[in-house]
Amino acid sequence: MINVTKAYMPNVEKYKSYVDKVFESGWLTNRGVLLQELERRLATYLNVKNVVLVANGSLALQICYKALGIKGKAITTPFSFAATASTLNWEGIEPIFSDIDPLTFNLCPDSLSHENLQSASAIVPVHVFGNPCEVERYEEIARKYQLKVVYDAAHAFGVQWKGKSVLEFGNASTVSFHSTKLFHTIEGGAIITDDDELAAKCRKLINFGITGPTTIEGQGTNAKMNELEAAMGLCVLDDIGYIVTERQRIWSYYEEMLRDYVAIQKWNENSENNFAYAPILFNNEETLLNVEQELKKNNIIPRRYFYPSLNMCEYTSTRYHCMNSESVASRILCLPIYPNLDMGVCEKVVSIVKKFVV
Ligand SMILES: *Cc1c(COP(=O)(O)O)cnc(C)c1O
Repeated sequence: MINVTKAYMPNVEKYKSYVDKVFESGWLTNRGVLLQELERRLATYLNVKNVVLVANGSLALQICYKALGIKGKAITTPFSFAATASTLNWEGIEPIFSDIDPLTFNLCPDSLSHENLQSASAIVPVHVFGNPCEVERYEEIARKYQLKVVYDAAHAFGVQWKGKSVLEFGNASTVSFHSTKLFHTIEGGAIITDDDELAAKCRKLINFGITGPTTIEGQGTNAKMNELEAAMGLCVLDDIGYIVTERQRIWSYYEEMLRDYVAIQKWNENSENNFAYAPILFNNEETLLNVEQELKKNNIIPRRYFYPSLNMCEYTSTRYHCMNSESVASRILCLPIYPNLDMGVCEKVVSIVKKFVV
């Protein structure tokens, strides 16, 4: 069975040597040495000021909302993974869905109404499939309306915008290090910010608000990453060049073979793809369903990222009509992409897509 992605497994001997160190020290969690090493190495690799490692990408978002005092309503995109909106809901913040640009698949700054901007306390844009949002526009809007900006950058690992890490925009960005992501720590995530005070606040919040053996400075939770996860991150980070090159090889093949048959995401012209996903957009949902069915018959399991459009979920609200998001969500399919994926599989995928697109 070929899935849309496969967790990257680093060299097992290398991982075991880290496990040996953990057994020798007996230090399993709570800002251990491996976690601290991974934070330093990631800050260097990503070229960012502060990396706060946390238990997962969802908690990274929740901690950011808490640390920034976001309350009431927040504007976000309906075209994303469920966690973007559900983390807001979970923190008692009502998501206001605004529509996307049908070519970039990102939240469209022009769709943000004056009324919604006035009633919100934050904007939570997503760099969908790693493609940078219009970060300068959001900076301007945030200044004008006094809004906080948290980027859900779960897909944007290693992405640059005008030569600078895209993770350094807004008040903070969050990334996910789940096993299925470009870079992973089994489960995990991080908060990235150039604001030292905010980083310190997040570190406090992820450890129950505890600041010393006998001091508790306010409310907190447990969102810590452990040493065995950090060890996985150290091993995967060693191989990140290979991982990206392999993904690029596969994406280039799909793009070359399919660009005359399906629509391809329009990438931000100041940035380059990190090849985290291989999305293709059909003209209609019927073709997508036919392709999906035929792929499944061949034991190839693509994923409908992201379907449904989040404004259609009952737990949120159906009051928002987001035409572009609903349309793209119904027609988009993510193809298998991961290191070492067999070219025979890619050829099969391409031939099935071509067969149903007329
Ligand atoms: C994966 C993902 C998350 C959640 O990250 P987890 O580590 O799985 O909690 C949040 N937002 C987006 C856009 C994602 O793709």
